[in-house]
Amino acid sequence: MLIDTHAHLYWDSFKDDFNDVIQRALDADITTIINTGVDVEKSQIALDQTNNTNLPEGLSVYSTIGIHPHEAPKYSDKEQETSDKLEGDIKELQTVYSTNPKKVVAVGECGLDYLFNPEFIPSALSLDQVKALEVKLFQAQIDLAKRLKLPLVVHSRDDRSQNHENTECWDKVIEMTKDHFGIYHCYSGLPQTTDSVLQNTNFLISFAANITYPKNEYLRKAAKIIPLDRIILETDSPFLSSQSRRGQRNEPATVKEIAQLIAELKGSSLKEVAKQTTTNAKRVFKI
Ligand SMILES: [Zn+2]
Repeated sequence: MLIDTHAHLYWDSFKDDFNDVIQRALDADITTIINTGVDVEKSQIALDQTNNTNLPEGLSVYSTIGIHPHEAPKYSDKEQETSDKLEGDIKELQTVYSTNPKKVVAVGECGLDYLFNPEFIPSALSLDQVKALEVKLFQAQIDLAKRLKLPLVVHSRDDRSQNHENTECWDKVIEMTKDHFGIYHCYSGLPQTTDSVLQNTNFLISFAANITYPKNEYLRKAAKIIPLDRIILETDSPFLSSQSRRGQRNEPATVKEIAQLIAELKGSSLKEVAKQTTTNAKRVFKI
């Protein structure tokens, strides 16, 4: 059996054929899906979906509470009003958790994203201001995870468009999180980041289907180096399809393809990779 440790099942693109998507996941031996929140409203919707009585037997769905770094500009504290907004939203995340602590298994996805899409940056803010807001939003969720004793699901992405060796974002993420525990989701660390994660943190490393992209040889090298007891698997559905379905909607069944590739890279079997990554995921989420 396999666990998709990071998916967004509430996304609009799953609305029309949700049951088929779930059935294909079951057919691919996925037994558990972690439905990941990206803001307050979607964290509530993700939790509501875990209680969907139409979910087939044999599939467990859990959820997370979190605010994605892309939301950071909303928390600009130029006005007092918006500074209170962050505090209010963190409280609301905690309220979502309190309504069903057995189903809400992590705080996230939260983190830092320094690959800025200018479309999402309000013209009134400089990039440094946005970075500072991301750090503030992330720290508030690290504090929440510590209070609730929950793992963190961390998003981290460097801008390597000018400098292929850029590790600014990953360095900051490791510095901010190393005294807690959780998952570095959709792993994109360069070799020195992998060394640092293994030496300085207890975090699990989660591989997504971008490990199948031809240009991402560095991820396949990372998967060879990282011990299997530190690896878990995810799809980030509906995003990040595998190379064989590039450009199409992704879905939880893809976890099997990622597991197969990791097995090949490590000279291990699909069965062994499934068993160990499932054990790792169950341990970190306490499920
Ligand atoms: Zn995600």
